[in-house]
Amino acid sequence: MIATTTAARIAHDEATAAAFAELSKWTGYRNGLVKGLHRDLGHQPTVRYGSTYRQSVEDTLAEAEAFVARDEATLDRAKGEAMTYHRLNDTLALWAKYGAKVEELTLALAALDAEYTGWTRAFLVTNSNGHVHSSMNCSTCNRNGKATTFAWVTDFSDHDEAQIVAAAGWRACTVCYPTAPVVGMTAKAAKAALPSTIKNDGSIKA
Ligand SMILES: [Zn+2]
Repeated sequence: MIATTTAARIAHDEATAAAFAELSKWTGYRNGLVKGLHRDLGHQPTVRYGSTYRQSVEDTLAEAEAFVARDEATLDRAKGEAMTYHRLNDTLALWAKYGAKVEELTLALAALDAEYTGWTRAFLVTNSNGHVHSSMNCSTCNRNGKATTFAWVTDFSDHDEAQIVAAAGWRACTVCYPTAPVVGMTAKAAKAALPSTIKNDGSIKA
């Protein structure tokens, strides 16, 4: 259903933010599985104790699948292949299970996105000095090849610049909201200006 009121738009964005968080959780679990596959297949990280590998995720999965496709009778138990075989099987089963979750959430997000008609949204950078931005693509974020971590501030969905600047004060990004004050607010005043869901360290209250 297309949301036409601010309350409905906030609810829509809350659902989107929740699906977004779930998706990154399950994607994270999958990344953890890949790490296990590298280890079980005897891959060496490119740097000692590092976490990057020469083998791509696709190649690693293909190698694991080829391993478990082997006839169990031909496994070299002395080399620990039977153990590897079972570990890889377990990991691949989890990979498929988590993948179904990722797919389900991706579809849910696509459905929500299809009903998004472009109302304003706000995102808070989750660090102690975090600012509120109108999108996750703000030019002041994601610098030096590092992805910025954002929290959705759904309280601010479908609110205009004046409303956001009034509520967020210096925390409103001056690129996203040109009328935002740069400085001139004490920490106490800034804290008082924050909406109830944002704590002063930039995190969001549950
Ligand atoms: Zn910004």
